[in-house]
Amino acid sequence: MRKPRDKRSWSEYEQVSSLKFRERFVTEVSGFGDVRVALIYPNSYEVGSASLSTHVLLRKLNELGSVRAERFFYNKDFLKYYSFDSLTPLDEFKIWAFSVHFELDLMNVFDILNKFSVPLRKEERNEFHPVIIAGGAMTYFNDNLLTEVADVVHRGDLSEEFLDGLSAVDHWMHRKEIIASLETEHVTPFFSDVLGESVFISPDSVFGDRYLIEVGRGCFRKCRFCVAGHRYGRPRFRKSDEVFDLMDSVADFTNRFGLVAATVTDYPGIDEVAEHCIEKGYELSVSSLRLDSVSDTLMKSLRLSNQSIFTIAPEGGSQRMRDAFAKGISRGDILSALELGRKHGFRRVKMYYIYGAVFERREDRQEIAEMALQASSMGYTSVVLSLNPLIPKPGTPFEEMPMESLSGLRKYEKEIRSELLVEGVKLDFESLKESQVQFALANIDKSHSRELLAHVERGVDPTPILKKYAEEVNSKRKEWKKHGKEEYSGC
Ligand code: SF4
Repeated sequence: MRKPRDKRSWSEYEQVSSLKFRERFVTEVSGFGDVRVALIYPNSYEVGSASLSTHVLLRKLNELGSVRAERFFYNKDFLKYYSFDSLTPLDEFKIWAFSVHFELDLMNVFDILNKFSVPLRKEERNEFHPVIIAGGAMTYFNDNLLTEVADVVHRGDLSEEFLDGLSAVDHWMHRKEIIASLETEHVTPFFSDVLGESVFISPDSVFGDRYLIEVGRGCFRKCRFCVAGHRYGRPRFRKSDEVFDLMDSVADFTNRFGLVAATVTDYPGIDEVAEHCIEKGYELSVSSLRLDSVSDTLMKSLRLSNQSIFTIAPEGGSQRMRDAFAKGISRGDILSALELGRKHGFRRVKMYYIYGAVFERREDRQEIAEMALQASSMGYTSVVLSLNPLIPKPGTPFEEMPMESLSGLRKYEKEIRSELLVEGVKLDFESLKESQVQFALANIDKSHSRELLAHVERGVDPTPILKKYAEEVNSKRKEWKKHGKEEYSGC
């Protein structure tokens, strides 16, 4: 392993070391094989260490025996990229496996490849370049760009077939042989029944020092804008006994737990798990809850866990919008959830909304403001609205819908702000420029993927190209704008 030789590398090395030494491993996951695989999460350590994909891959790959898998996270200032497991620099790894979960993370993948002078287009790589694998949530709905970049794209959940292919790799193999061994037959996403749990805990993760347990994957609700509801496969859940066993087995390390699922409140064992936590004195938090299925027991457990903010997602401002989104919740459900929050002593609430669908009207947005004021009047001293523009994504019923123009969205943002200049209400708008880039990347086709890569390789800022592409996609969807509006006007 090469030690740092200059000041900048030392600083990078120390940053990685200090994060690494604050981690506590619950399960032994070191690999000792000679096939070195870099597991790269192309987002910050805080985000990547909270993603169960990092934990599952680290455990599963190292269990193979012949493999030594180590973690890397994105940092725009890093140049060497030292591993979070052995502090070995990235360029000593023969296989680089990227877990791409968010569209904007693709930019970070490009940045890492560029920094190491690895050609972005797979056909330009030679024997001296690492084998690039791509997997993660992006592969469930659009892999056009990934198939141009990665030598191997693994679609969907981690499959046994892929693991078998990896265990057949020998470190003396040539690139072509490794690629051939890793290619699976899955041209559509693979759905596994195996759910994940933490192998380490870190105070620096976005979920804090919590042990995470995936209790469910997939969602039967099928809200029209949501990729998880349409592309993550049928819902599968973990048995509650298994959750109790996992919690009890790590109670010496931590008594703080986080449950992860598309919608944790749809997990059939949620009340039993909440009761178990109350009984054992464990702290519980949940990644997401559906406001029409929150129970007293869950709220009690969350409150006893010192959770100070209560988070709900009405998504649509008005009933018309919630119906158009197929959200399946009413104004009465929102009010009941807010009342339940107050009953359990919550004084802070966060509400997620999607605004700016092309069929939305001014009065729909006005109801967002009304609900925020209603929450204030119920005794919430802090009301935070997280407001995200609708980004139509492939694989959902909205896949042919245009995204509202930036000028339109800016106008709506202004409108909502002007109605909520109220003490105790905070508005948190998603960046519109980033949302537009996200829309372009989510919908990118093959030829634009190639064009984009050619620009990025030459060091050209991809943002204007993606902005132009987003406009092109929108102009092709003008028809939808007419008929779609009609379709949803009665909702
Ligand atoms: S928005 Fe939530 S409830 Fe709706 S489909 Fe997606 S994960 Fe399920």
